[in-house]
Amino acid sequence: MVFLKGCPLRCIWCHNPEGLDPAPVLMFNPTRCIGCGDCAAVCPGDRHGFTDGIHTVKNSDCPRCGKCADACVGRALSLTGREMSVDEIMKEVMRDESFYRESGGGLTLSGGEPLYQADFSAEILKAAKENGLHTCVETSGFGSSEKVKLISQYTDTFLFDYKATGEEEHKRLCGVSRELILKNLEMLSAGGADIVLRCPIIPGINDTDAHFAGIAETAKKHKGIREVQLEPYHRLGVSKAEQLGLSDYYDGSVPEKEDMERHRALIEKLSLKKVTIS
Ligand code: SF4
Ligand code: SF4
Repeated sequence: MVFLKGCPLRCIWCHNPEGLDPAPVLMFNPTRCIGCGDCAAVCPGDRHGFTDGIHTVKNSDCPRCGKCADACVGRALSLTGREMSVDEIMKEVMRDESFYRESGGGLTLSGGEPLYQADFSAEILKAAKENGLHTCVETSGFGSSEKVKLISQYTDTFLFDYKATGEEEHKRLCGVSRELILKNLEMLSAGGADIVLRCPIIPGINDTDAHFAGIAETAKKHKGIREVQLEPYHRLGVSKAEQLGLSDYYDGSVPEKEDMERHRALIEKLSLKKVTIS
């Protein structure tokens, strides 16, 4: 799994908020802080405060020089994300080559959004194919059709998101229009791509009959969609958002197993396609 940074969407439940920004971001985990104050001593921006033994970091808009992370002995501070070349990535990926051969696995590009740096993504995928690996791209589908086509040349399977039904609902929940996304989905399917439709299910947000009907209709319409995968909401993003200093982050509850199974059965019945829960 190679996580690429940068994403043009702003899904309210994003489970990888550290991937939204294309640049490295500063994360602060207070449970690891020993209160030594070394970070404050090196910070040029006076962004570390200590009041009544509580350490606060104004990291949401810091210039990310990384000095505090380097100085932190407790590893409470870290800069997440680094620049890497295709060669460096492939060297790391190929260290697990024997596992891929054994398991039939391969390389998956995730994010962030791989289409955000599409040319670079295409180079990674191309290199993976040259090394005989199976390739997968997890994508929101939001990117220029030309770049989607470029990537599709080296992609065996697309894990293509379907997050909300209805244009206004999509804009409200994900921050962008879905017109381009649906156009790209249609293009990939018509071009013979292998697609798994991935649908995050967020209780109280998109677990509606109208949305389930929308998922089923979309799955039925596109012959390239071989399977629908429902992804139950999980709360990993909540603590990461706290560590990033993001305020107003969505903090919901996870769906019940029985509810997920009910949604799965309904969508399978309506779409006539295989529906699984990841
Ligand atoms: S990364 Fe931000 S908080 Fe840390 S030392 Fe640099 S400016 Fe200060
Ligand atoms: S350097 Fe690290 S351990 Fe020390 S006060 Fe800062 S965050 Fe806490």
